[in-house]
Amino acid sequence: VRRLADRAGSGEDRLIARYFKPIARHPGALGLIDDTAIFAPPAGQELVLTADAIVAGMHFLPDDPPEAVARKALRVNLSDLAAKGAKPAGFLLSIALPKNFKSQWLEAFARGLRDDARRYGCPLFGGDTVATAGPVAISVTAFGTLPKGTMVRRFGARIGHGIVITGTIGDAALGLRLRKDRSAARTWKLTPEMGRHLAERYLVPQPRNALAQALRQHASAAMDVSDGLAGDLGKLCRVSSVGAEVEIARVPLSKAARAALAADPSLIKTVLTGGDDFEIIATVPRNALAALKMAARTARVPLTEIGEVVAGKGARFLASNGRALTFARASFSHF
Ligand code: ADP
Ligand code: MG
Repeated sequence: VRRLADRAGSGEDRLIARYFKPIARHPGALGLIDDTAIFAPPAGQELVLTADAIVAGMHFLPDDPPEAVARKALRVNLSDLAAKGAKPAGFLLSIALPKNFKSQWLEAFARGLRDDARRYGCPLFGGDTVATAGPVAISVTAFGTLPKGTMVRRFGARIGHGIVITGTIGDAALGLRLRKDRSAARTWKLTPEMGRHLAERYLVPQPRNALAQALRQHASAAMDVSDGLAGDLGKLCRVSSVGAEVEIARVPLSKAARAALAADPSLIKTVLTGGDDFEIIATVPRNALAALKMAARTARVPLTEIGEVVAGKGARFLASNGRALTFARASFSHF
């Protein structure tokens, strides 16, 4: 028995070899048989690092499809790299599983992860695998590359710069509400297709990596919107020491979100503060706006101008009557 175990390695080693080695295709990952991995950034480039963890019951629901959980774990990190103008290069994965995890679950998880690692050119370099008495927890540390000194900061927005946002806002927050209360679909008068759209937007983010290079060239500041547009724009303003004015009517909404809002206008607060959008908010000097919009069209990333950087403090969201909307809670916070 001892010899057999030696040959096959421990349960943990076998698990790593079976599920994670196929995703570790970069030579620097050393087939996941060493203690560490190696990555040499191309000449003149530097690394951009980010980590995000997701926990069952908190960031995903325990019965979400494992493929989708894996995609979300990786994509929330890819979204950060995109907002900073970095090209994905690789990631590390730490996963805590219950002792009695189902191999089917892990197999599907690894499949989703492998697909996205390929799709985004972001191979696995290593990680850690542990047992937990609590819910499944997944932490991804991703890294990307860009020419030295060109990372797009949160700091850098100047008075007069335009504010743009990718995609549509609020879908994921509405999707989560739907997941928790099916009857909302009827109250909001959604078609089945609209309901699916919102649910899908919560389940699997669409990181905007295609826009990374254009952001690096044209944006004065940028961040990904993960905790709600209102709060995240507020954060960007704070570090840039400016204010922002956004016209609510210009905030891009999906057909499904528009239908929900028509049925219940108070949902605008969920839309603007709800989180999980994984879109990118950026500020852009006026003379670079046209170029960024053009680059976004080429990259097939929807991009909408929603407001302007102004003097003062905080992000103000203006209704059509010119009044600023107030939020009890501008963004999601764990604590
Ligand atoms: P050690 O105990 O020496 O830190 P481990 O036994 O935890 O090493 O890991 C062995 C190898 O497997 C390392 O290369 C590590 O990066 C990799 N590894 C472990 N868990 C994961 C995981 N969840 N995803 C990717 N690689 C992993
Ligand atoms: Mg070691």
